Amino acid sequence: MSDFQLFIDGRFRDAESGETFQSINPATGEAIGTVAKAGAEDAARAIDAARAAFDDHRWSGRRGSDRGRVLAAIAKGIKERAPELTELESRDSGATLAKAKADVGGAGFWFRVMGEYAARLDDPEPLPQTIAPGPSYNYVKRDPVGVCTAIIPWNFPLQMASWKLSMALAAGNSVVLKPAEETPCSATVLAEIIRDAGVPQGVCNVIQGPGPVTGEELITNPSVDKVAFTGSTEVGKHIMKLAANTVKKTTLELGGKCPQIVLDDADPELAVDGAIYGAFFHQGQVCTAGSRLLVPDAIHDEFVGRLLERVATMRVGLPTEKGTTTGPVVSQKQLDTVLNYIEIGQKEGATLAAGGQRVTDGELENGFFVAPTVFTDVTADMTIAQEEIFGPVVTVLRYSDDEDAVRIANGTVYGLAAGVWGSPARAMKLADRLQAGTVWINEYHLLNPHYPFGGYKQSGIGREHGYLGLLEYTEAKHVHLGVDNRRSTKRWFDGTIPQPR
Ligand code: ADP
Repeated sequence: MSDFQLFIDGRFRDAESGETFQSINPATGEAIGTVAKAGAEDAARAIDAARAAFDDHRWSGRRGSDRGRVLAAIAKGIKERAPELTELESRDSGATLAKAKADVGGAGFWFRVMGEYAARLDDPEPLPQTIAPGPSYNYVKRDPVGVCTAIIPWNFPLQMASWKLSMALAAGNSVVLKPAEETPCSATVLAEIIRDAGVPQGVCNVIQGPGPVTGEELITNPSVDKVAFTGSTEVGKHIMKLAANTVKKTTLELGGKCPQIVLDDADPELAVDGAIYGAFFHQGQVCTAGSRLLVPDAIHDEFVGRLLERVATMRVGLPTEKGTTTGPVVSQKQLDTVLNYIEIGQKEGATLAAGGQRVTDGELENGFFVAPTVFTDVTADMTIAQEEIFGPVVTVLRYSDDEDAVRIANGTVYGLAAGVWGSPARAMKLADRLQAGTVWINEYHLLNPHYPFGGYKQSGIGREHGYLGLLEYTEAKHVHLGVDNRRSTKRWFDGTIPQPR
């Protein structure tokens, strides 16, 4: 029996094939435990369970307010098991304990808030009424979409699982979740909490397995109605193509190359610390990472000086150790990717002003650690200023005036988020012109279950979170009720039916 089993149709079980894989602690390179490795047949079985559960209305037929109470119980369950979840999440993903703790808190917060929104779905939304051709009452009713599948990445495993499951369940859907291969563990605990909170059998399923096989079944199976994906733009494009064959609804939250614009009137202390948080939080493995730092000519040298001073005080270390600011990146593969980008940056002529190397001191010997890296003299056309690196690497670009800043900020294929550090009135003017689903002014990385989140351009399709995000898990049904039900009053237009006299 594997340590972390699949959760299908209300039962924990191993994969049909009996295959397992190991999840690795990125700080030590050691295995955490064995994980059941779902194949396409397990995915199909989970989808069948979800389909049956949806079709007999055991969850979809309940009132939103009732589902909301169950979601509140899930939030409570997460809170009760928070210490265990925090420790597991840190070991599995390389998150510092502080980050893992915040993630666990966030997971509960999402279930609680989405549970509250669920009740709102019970009330039909009235529409403007018409009196021609006869008196009527019109409203929009929100139905769940059906069977949703959710495919998530490895940077915020528990949070992402909770985002997707809380929205799907609040709206009355059945769901099959596939965590990333790198971070499969906490989803098993979450499945237990969801079962114990009273979500009926088959409504929520969790299967750990590889993207190209298990994931693709979740996209191509005709019983699936919607795919919610968070991950790279490259895989997102592939998913969109696969989903097209059966015209599945998709929401995609994809990559980013987010700008942080520092204005010359910014509080320098706030802007420097904020920029570091924006760029290096969770080793930069965040789709909203503010990996392009746009600094005006007027304060460039002074700002970069302060930035480098602060970066020099960052501490690369074990995520479980107090005082660690920078833990490992998630895997050997990600380590190689990040180091490769650092090499490209140097080849293309950027100045490596800090970091740039793997760290293997003492206990870090077998982990995947990269020193916080700063590139200066970066131009907008360089690869490191255009492509998502997903590691602790920030690029500093100069700009001349606000116009120039907006042009550079919008000059990538992405549009997920942006930050502006400076006086509110001026920053708000810039915000109007930024192509980004979220603009933070004098703040960064702030997500909240009430605020919609998603991308412009190739950063995605649709929005998550907030009532807007919840609606993405519903179908809108317009109901037109003709109040007058007498034949004699109907005056239809096309003349094919003889008009009553
Ligand atoms: P990253 O580059 O951050 O690892 P990916 O986009 O590769 O992100 O992966 C995010 C999620 O997508 C993971 O759960 C992964 O298993 C899944 N995935 C990867 N390739 C596919 C695919 N071809 N079909 C479905 N899911 C996939």
